[in-house]
Amino acid sequence: MARKVLAGNWKMHKTRGEARAFVEAFLPLIEPLAADRLVILCGPYTCLDILSANAGPYAVGAQNVHWENSGAYTGEIAPVMLTELGVLYAIVGHSERRQYFNETDATVNRRLKAAQAHDLTPILCVGESEALRLAGQTESHIRFQLDHDLKDIDLDRLIVAYEPIWAIGTGKTCAPVEANRIIGLIREHVGQANLPVLYGGSCNPGNIDAIMAQDKIDGVLVGGASLEVQSFARIVNFE
Ligand code: PGA
Repeated sequence: MARKVLAGNWKMHKTRGEARAFVEAFLPLIEPLAADRLVILCGPYTCLDILSANAGPYAVGAQNVHWENSGAYTGEIAPVMLTELGVLYAIVGHSERRQYFNETDATVNRRLKAAQAHDLTPILCVGESEALRLAGQTESHIRFQLDHDLKDIDLDRLIVAYEPIWAIGTGKTCAPVEANRIIGLIREHVGQANLPVLYGGSCNPGNIDAIMAQDKIDGVLVGGASLEVQSFARIVNFE
């Protein structure tokens, strides 16, 4: 059976001191980790070495990655800079990157390719806005994103996260049955039976068991609730 993936996306939170304190308190709460679980902590770049120094029970992920390995790209981070720090995963195409930093399906595709070329497993985020959902365009939008983002991508070294934008950081979780339905469609559209597909959007200790009880959901990508040790440990230790 494929491992369930419990990924925390810290976004632009935690100083190095705060990251150190988190790891110290978190490790005893997740060990021993059930064999069927993979925990990934995606911290800000400035904390990645601290996360790596304690990795083992969990793996380390970045929140983005550039498509070149060096160059005049102020503010960006290259794949080799991440792998040197022991980073194994990188979130790509998060809706906040698309919305606030103008990332397009074309740049997302380039980042995915570069990640894979340098042995980082990308976690591709897709999902619809509230307006698209209300207009009945959820499925067509996600199909469009997948078709463009995944052009020439190795489907064997990929994780996808379904993150409806209206559910991110809002406390409005997508109903688990609906998330399960969309995740089934994503896997079918990509055409890869083993593709791990996660749900993200206001996951918390109160809804994690219902989400993970769904048959097509392979895990979760957690923002706000991954910042607090007890709540993320509860999510990792879902029933
Ligand atoms: P949230 O964020 O859990 O705070 O809704 C999820 C995400 O953006 O990955």
